[in-house]
Amino acid sequence: MRVVTRPFHSIARTVLRNVIVAAAVLALVIGAAHSWYTYQKEQQRVEALTSTFALGHVPLLMVGIWDLEANALQRQVDLMAAYPEIAEARVQAATGMAFSAGPEVANRRPDVRLPIPHPTEPGEVLGELQVWYDNDYIRREIVSAIVPGFIEFVLFALVVSFITYRIIFAGLNRPLRAIDDYSRQLTPGRRNPPLELGRRQRHWEDEIDLMVDGFNTLRDGIARFSEERDQAVKTLSRERDMLDERVRERTQEMRQINEVLESLSRLSVSLIDVPYESQHSAMVDALARCGKLIEASAVGIAVCHEAGDWEWRYCWPVSTDTRAFPDSRVLHNLSWAQGWYVGDTPWSPHGLVCTRVVDSERYLLTFHEPKARTYTPLEERLVRMAAEVLFKVIERWENQHELENSRRELYRLSRTDPLTGLANRRYFNEVRDTEGRRIQRTGEPLSVLMIDVDFFKAYNDQYGHSKGDRCLVRLAEVFRQQCARAGELSARLGGEEFAILLPGHDEAEALEMAERVRSAVYDLAVPHEHSPMDWVTVSIGCATWFGDRGAEPLDAVFDHLMRNADRCLYKAKALGRNRVVGEASLSTANE
Ligand code: GH3
Ligand code: MG
Ligand code: MG
Repeated sequence: MRVVTRPFHSIARTVLRNVIVAAAVLALVIGAAHSWYTYQKEQQRVEALTSTFALGHVPLLMVGIWDLEANALQRQVDLMAAYPEIAEARVQAATGMAFSAGPEVANRRPDVRLPIPHPTEPGEVLGELQVWYDNDYIRREIVSAIVPGFIEFVLFALVVSFITYRIIFAGLNRPLRAIDDYSRQLTPGRRNPPLELGRRQRHWEDEIDLMVDGFNTLRDGIARFSEERDQAVKTLSRERDMLDERVRERTQEMRQINEVLESLSRLSVSLIDVPYESQHSAMVDALARCGKLIEASAVGIAVCHEAGDWEWRYCWPVSTDTRAFPDSRVLHNLSWAQGWYVGDTPWSPHGLVCTRVVDSERYLLTFHEPKARTYTPLEERLVRMAAEVLFKVIERWENQHELENSRRELYRLSRTDPLTGLANRRYFNEVRDTEGRRIQRTGEPLSVLMIDVDFFKAYNDQYGHSKGDRCLVRLAEVFRQQCARAGELSARLGGEEFAILLPGHDEAEALEMAERVRSAVYDLAVPHEHSPMDWVTVSIGCATWFGDRGAEPLDAVFDHLMRNADRCLYKAKALGRNRVVGEASLSTANE
């Protein structure tokens, strides 16, 4: 919307006004110059006339006065008055005669006064010629010289102005107004016609044509802009539709991924705490579920051992399907990229494989389908996700096995004597307590043999400590062999002291066992120079508990039992060593 802040003046009117003003000023200047020129010219003519009177008429007047020729004088005066510049001419003779011609000029002194000299008497005058110029004559002359030219000029100026006005009006105002109207209708939204001013054909171009060209270029630009904008709008809306479609697809994919993630999450949770013996079947079940997820008919996991050998560890349905699960040598010969890889299986045209290779840790998950099929990127992502979960579970299981083995080893070490491999005192006490509780229930007997190597200090001194250790190991082997039945337990209590737990053995059976042990040691025939027996021997104290269900706590029972066995052992030492002493001999001694 055009906001008008100044009055509107048409160019044609402005030009017309300016031309008229300029013409008027020019007319005035020319008129003034012309007037001045005419005035000067008339002045010169008047002066020339004065000298004509003086030289031409005054002598004749002199003759006329001198001869008293009144008619001649009058004729001369008439002749002079006949000049258009002269208002009145008068001859005043000294005699008092006067002749005049022309209208009488009142109240004005003559403009020219020429004395009429005496013909014979120099210095004498016969009269005077008086002339009055017609003052209006110069004005009239000027007017008559200027007015026609002025009128012509004004007429010319008017005509020129009018023609200029018409030309400007027709050639400029009208096209400009048409262009103004046209430009107001130029909008990007509609189909604008080209600018046509209906001017007649010329073989030249002017500014209006340039402007028309400019507007038509502008109109083409607007049309192109509108077209591009429409195109852009269409493209945008198409892309919006496509975006909607893509969002729908993505949402669908996300839903699918979510479902898979949920089932993978459930799967991983269910797999984590599966006991060792059920792990294989649980993993095969999991593979079957994964196979159904992406519609594959065989799924398998291969694991690479540290030595570089591959092993198909979990296969669904069976590992004998060599198209799905090729020989491990095939896997060995393939080069696997570090990190994660998902792609076609090199050994089957319809398979998909996902590997994770981190240095020596290598896992492979493969999906197989006998029918020709391609896997979508989404399926590849799902396979990768499933692989991540399953490999993690396998890793965790392996860690669990290692942990369990370490724990068992630790437990074994914690109850074993490191030198001899027999039970240590701690484990001996544990088994003793367990058996004690059992015997409290069943009422069976339980015996304990306390064994000490004879003269062992001397043995060490003689053969060295390491040989002493080897001797202890050999003795331990004897104890283990002699007491190999279920429940029987040999232990090294410390130094060269050993104990044997014999659940279910009464005193006689225990003494028998002790004797077997002692003689087996003797029969080992380990030389011992500083022993009276010449061989390494042991002394054994034997005590038995009959498993009475008395009120005594178990600790007290065993304290008593071990103490008795010790006492028997010392008695055996005291009696000369290399012998077995039972509780009966103890009471005999007490008695
Ligand atoms: P006794 O017949 O009275 O038992 O005489 P002994 O010399 O055996 O006396 P005692 O039982 O008091 O001596 C224990 C010796 O056993 C002392 C030490 O040199 C030896 N000994 C203890 N523990 C070890 C061991 O782990 N290895 C070796 N080589 N010798 C040990
Ligand atoms: Mg000892
Ligand atoms: Mg000893």
